[in-house]
Amino acid sequence: MQKIRTRIAPSPTGDPHVGTAYIALFNRCFAHQHGGEFILRIEDTDQVRSTEKSERDILNALNWLGLSWSEGPDVGGRCAPYRQSERSALYSSEIVKLLNSGHAFRCFCTADRLQELRTRQMAEKVSVGYDGHCLTLTEEQVAQKLNDGVEHVIRMRIPQSGDCIFNDMLRGEIRINWQQIDMQVLIKSDGLPTYHFANVVDDHHMEISHVIRGEEWINSTPKHLLLYQYFGWEPPIYCHMPLLRNTDKSKLSKRKNPTSIGYYRDMGYLPQAVVNYLGMMGWTMPDGREMFSVAEMIDHFDLTRVSLGGPVFDVAKLDWLNGKYIRETLSNDEFMQHFAAWAFRPDKINDIIPLIKDRVERFSDVVPLAGFFLAGLPEINEASFDHKKISADDSKKILQFTLWYLESLRKFDRTSIEASCMTLATHLDIKIRDFLFPLFVAISGKGVSTSVIDSMSILGLDITRARIRHAINVLGGISNKAAKELEKDFRDFAQVAE
Ligand code: GLU
Repeated sequence: MQKIRTRIAPSPTGDPHVGTAYIALFNRCFAHQHGGEFILRIEDTDQVRSTEKSERDILNALNWLGLSWSEGPDVGGRCAPYRQSERSALYSSEIVKLLNSGHAFRCFCTADRLQELRTRQMAEKVSVGYDGHCLTLTEEQVAQKLNDGVEHVIRMRIPQSGDCIFNDMLRGEIRINWQQIDMQVLIKSDGLPTYHFANVVDDHHMEISHVIRGEEWINSTPKHLLLYQYFGWEPPIYCHMPLLRNTDKSKLSKRKNPTSIGYYRDMGYLPQAVVNYLGMMGWTMPDGREMFSVAEMIDHFDLTRVSLGGPVFDVAKLDWLNGKYIRETLSNDEFMQHFAAWAFRPDKINDIIPLIKDRVERFSDVVPLAGFFLAGLPEINEASFDHKKISADDSKKILQFTLWYLESLRKFDRTSIEASCMTLATHLDIKIRDFLFPLFVAISGKGVSTSVIDSMSILGLDITRARIRHAINVLGGISNKAAKELEKDFRDFAQVAE
């Protein structure tokens, strides 16, 4: 029998997401339950958005949760390399097979032509997609264009009629009409593969037996299966997991819930509680027990028992579970060790010391000055924002604009945070001192404290975001209507600022 091999294939384009950990956990349980292997592959085909920092953060976050892998970019393995940016030669040789068999073709259409096509299709209310224009080129025409060095991509052929039918472990038979499927670009004009091509080539070469991934990929599966067919390769078995949801059932989003694993680590959750909670997403232990370890989950695992109801990631429930873990599983000694390791992270403390050293006469001054670095959300109320020049509405606007601006930063460090605040203060025509006041309150709980800009950079975007959002709520929140107006104002300004 074929060995069970599963994988998590994150794209290093942002913060490590709880959704990635959830999918990793189920892949790992499934593989280990069958004595198989769980591997990690980095899908960095998006060269513009992929960063080394994001890759590092994702690996650290999954390791923190104990979701280790037996092969990956950090530990190597027999299918190395495990980073797609290092596997270009493989994709280049595989695409030749599809070009030779006629299953893939070169497309020389310009961006302008594609845009026109799109506009026309939208006006005609027909499905938007490539019209196969370059399929009509003769071999000589193609050779001539190649000779002239005309920029081009490589697309896959798609059947013009009929359905793609496949079986999903959780959903049974799925049927998707080929007319809904675009002639996907496989190789971009820079010669590098798209996600779809690299993903299939790698799953095959890494001998992945089961692809367990989020349901947002269902519509891509026909293209993937067709590629397996074109290559003459045995496809893996597919299982599309239900997406995590906010408590209002919308797709889990950082606007409504913290989604970054780093947030949960920085707020002092125990990794075993977070993983346990993720194990409860759409799945239950056969005896209904709510506290269980990954090892226990593996012992009783049955992937087909995942319910498709749309699991809700409810932070209040996680808080409850984490509290239970702290009370019921940690001895006082272990409590001390865990707390000390969390509170006294040398990198953080090193950054905090220069901010407070000049103001400290005794160590007992440290907590009143810097305690907010360790606290969760500050205890504030509307009166905390009383200020002679800044009204409550001004405060809300400053907080919301700052949050949007900070979220758009590529690098969240002191220099860029400071530049953002200066730009915003100038735009809103508020003196920087006054502009920073609501941020001081939101971040430290007080109108005066250590530099709020340094504080935000030390706390990181996840905690900063949570505190700013909390402050906006304390101030009565922003109605949908007001949010729309603010967003418009912000967008106009952000475009100018770019
Ligand atoms: N790189 C994709 C992602 O970021 C992987 C999807 C898949 O598992 O096929 O989710």
